[in-house]
Amino acid sequence: MRLDNLNIPWGRGIFRRTKRISLELSNLCNHAEIHHRCPAHFQEEPAILPEAIVDAVLAGCRAYEFQGIISFHLYNEPGIDPRLVLFMRKVKQALPAARLFLLTNGWYLDQTLAREFEAHGLDFLGISAYSEEERARLSRISLGIPVRILLEPHDDRVHWYTGQTASGHSLACYCPLYEICITCRGEVGLCPFDWQRRHVFGNLHKDPLAAVLEQPAVWRLYGELSKGNRELEICRACPTFRGEPWIADAGGAPQDLDPEKPS
Ligand code: SF4
Repeated sequence: MRLDNLNIPWGRGIFRRTKRISLELSNLCNHAEIHHRCPAHFQEEPAILPEAIVDAVLAGCRAYEFQGIISFHLYNEPGIDPRLVLFMRKVKQALPAARLFLLTNGWYLDQTLAREFEAHGLDFLGISAYSEEERARLSRISLGIPVRILLEPHDDRVHWYTGQTASGHSLACYCPLYEICITCRGEVGLCPFDWQRRHVFGNLHKDPLAAVLEQPAVWRLYGELSKGNRELEICRACPTFRGEPWIADAGGAPQDLDPEKPS
């Protein structure tokens, strides 16, 4: 299951280059202590994304009839947040055509809970399994929606700031607009890989999402990244990209980079 192969429509207005919005409900993960290659391991103080920010983002999405993907993770485990089903319901009420994606470590997932998530409108389920035994257990979960199980998904991203990994990558990337990343502290950030939040465009505790996204600096960076011009150190160290490979094949970077341009 690749989410970018699922024929998700582009948004409108401020979301016209967006197919996904990731809301990081917290920086908490029940595996953080044991997974030393996961950014969650390095979080010092717990932080929780307020419900008011989730509501404001969904209201903004509703205003533009967003039909893309909404997810509730960056490096947190969404399944341990007691508000998860509440937020799933809110998404489906505010945005009936949007798709809900849950990525979980599956720690407390079983057939019953997975079915309940599906009944609450889950559209795609991704599970990070950390042993063959867990993968075998989780693979017995049967749903009517796409389910993908990844085994041992940790890479070396925690070192991308240190200069210890290969650099000089130049693939086109469609951040920070293709996927809008909202951190548990309300920041609108570059992408999931910037786990230290060194590149942040605004904070939803102070500014509405539209005001953050309309900044010319956001669109300029998007324009450069979409041409493969990786100005930021973390981007040069990043061997991958966010977005859909066929965007480049279909004519390269989008030209409508003026944030004032109507949809
Ligand atoms: S190039 Fe990599 S690090 Fe840079 S914005 Fe894209 S996905 Fe993030």
